[in-house]
Amino acid sequence: MALSGVEIFKMLPKTNCKKCGHPTCLAFAMKLAQRQATLDSCPDVSEEAKKVLGEASAPPVRPITFGAGDLAVKMGEETVLFRHDKKFVNPCAIAVEIKDTFSEAEATKIIEQVLASEIDRVGQKLRVDAIALTNASGDAGKFEALAKIVAAKASVVPTIICTENPQAAEAAAKLFADKRAIIYGANASNAEAMANIAKTNKMTLGVHANGLEELSALTEKIKALGVEDMVIDSGARKAKDIIEHNTLIRRAAVKKNFKPLGYPVINFMQRDDSLVEALLAAVGIAKYSSIIVVNSVEKWKNLALFTMRQNIYTDPQVPMQVEQKIYNIGEPKPESPLMITTNFSLTYFIVSGEIENSKVASRLAVMDSEGLSVLTAWAAGKFTASKIAQFITESGIEKEMSHKELIIPGYVAILSGSIEDKLPGWKITVGPREANALPAFLKTRAA
Ligand code: SF4
Repeated sequence: MALSGVEIFKMLPKTNCKKCGHPTCLAFAMKLAQRQATLDSCPDVSEEAKKVLGEASAPPVRPITFGAGDLAVKMGEETVLFRHDKKFVNPCAIAVEIKDTFSEAEATKIIEQVLASEIDRVGQKLRVDAIALTNASGDAGKFEALAKIVAAKASVVPTIICTENPQAAEAAAKLFADKRAIIYGANASNAEAMANIAKTNKMTLGVHANGLEELSALTEKIKALGVEDMVIDSGARKAKDIIEHNTLIRRAAVKKNFKPLGYPVINFMQRDDSLVEALLAAVGIAKYSSIIVVNSVEKWKNLALFTMRQNIYTDPQVPMQVEQKIYNIGEPKPESPLMITTNFSLTYFIVSGEIENSKVASRLAVMDSEGLSVLTAWAAGKFTASKIAQFITESGIEKEMSHKELIIPGYVAILSGSIEDKLPGWKITVGPREANALPAFLKTRAA
């Protein structure tokens, strides 16, 4: 049962040493009670207290790692219902289905699409995260044959083995040993056998039920059989049911600390109509899915879902930033122009995109402004003449250039004189106010 802040406080060292990042032990205890902190932040807590507080400090949605290596996906660990309360932790994984009724060529094509799905957006790598093998034929032999193809051609991609047939699951699981695959398909009639396979292979078990009552009874039963890591499927397939069930599951876990539903949720969104499928997938991403399974990889759909997922799983209280450095756009020569802007991701991507459009190879100095846009950073004193001069000097970019001209955004034209004072020998040119005027500006200069 969840403990109150005061109950937790009684078990803390009460030295108010601040090592946990909170001003007092009581403040830390309150955060623990609200699940907005974890016990390991206090280095001095006793072993006895750790044991008692373990449950109180554990995230209400069990953390689970799916897959191995660089492409492993983390799930769960969520502590809130709404992202304005606290950042959502682990983005929903997108898995694409490969049926065992597909030919080897069809399966291979999907695998190649998954492997090539990665894009870079606002500095983050986004991709289709997983493959879901489904036993659509009902034939264990065909399922094993498909599992062999995927294990051989996509061994780095996290895999979900979807079958309700324990023999088929066991044969496929052996092909993904040490890959932390998910075996999905445990239900009321095969729970013992599927639990044994998951335990033997140290894999997460996907539990399927018809409704939340059956689901919570089933997870309790499977937990008693010794399986800790589960992903859960309430059986919801329509948008309305997905929203309702996923919300009730998250609420039960977060607000009531109801352990039988405190697991990541898997939703199956496959539809023949790609647009409908994308809409349904978006519902899952917005409302608490940890894994969504779709039936095709299409670039437009990926981009829409990746973007939505990225927006939901960023911290609304922290601006997105890119690294401070000088970015080459094209293959700049010593005489190529040098421009400067701030490190707000959107600013960087808009400005760099317009420079690319100009086809004029350039250098773009992106200065750390704590993720603020140009005017906001200037108003906040984070994009000043002194700071710009210091950044340009320390970057050493001068050595790679045959000129000393820096183009600043038109919105901070007021800084041109003071930058020239702080950067002796440099010419400061005022560029356009809006990024979309950069192509014409650069082309005119290059002419
Ligand atoms: S680190 Fe531990 S002892 Fe120190 S203030 Fe935080 S809770 Fe208290």
